Amino acid sequence: MSPRPKRKRILSEPPAVSGFVPESGDYSLALEDTVVLHFEEYEAIRLADYEQMTQLQASKRMHVSRPTFTRIYESARKKVAKAFIENKRISIVGGNVAFDADWYRCENCGSVFKRKAGQKAKSCPVCGDRQIVPLEQAVNTFPERSRGGGRGGRFHGGRGVAGFCVCPKCDYKVQHSAGVPCGSLLCPHCNIRLIREDSEHYQIILKKRKK
Ligand SMILES: [Zn+2]
Ligand SMILES: [Zn+2]
Repeated sequence: MSPRPKRKRILSEPPAVSGFVPESGDYSLALEDTVVLHFEEYEAIRLADYEQMTQLQASKRMHVSRPTFTRIYESARKKVAKAFIENKRISIVGGNVAFDADWYRCENCGSVFKRKAGQKAKSCPVCGDRQIVPLEQAVNTFPERSRGGGRGGRFHGGRGVAGFCVCPKCDYKVQHSAGVPCGSLLCPHCNIRLIREDSEHYQIILKKRKK
């Protein structure tokens, strides 16, 4: 018997961060010192521990069976515990997922934006570049260290708790609130994820932005 293809786990939206690093700074970026948390594992912790859903509710939300949910969730908790105790970096990458809407990431400026389901995007609304990747594919590319906005580059957020979250396209801004990553907010006009105004990422975008 050939193995059944695994059904995709449905996520309402991709995580707003690509990973976590230990505060000590005493960690390595080597793959063997990184715990790779799959997107569906992140979502399992979000639903069960953060949203406090029962496992049955959470399994329905992700369109998987209850035993499958339990397996994903247990694997997720083991990984997070390992990272906490062994001082490892966590990278959220990979997995077998689909999102409720069509999400894309621009490989040139790093902007993440959303289209209505079925509506295809051809170029980045911020910089106009055509190297845009559906996030469902992008989740399987391992995040590289920030290289100033190169392919797959990731960026450090802004510093401190004050400041603003800003739309990389239209400069719509809201006061940053502690505990809410800017990336979890969407610009109401452009459907683009907000970023920290004082971040390196925003400076790079300002340079790349279509005039
Ligand atoms: Zn772009
Ligand atoms: Zn905007």
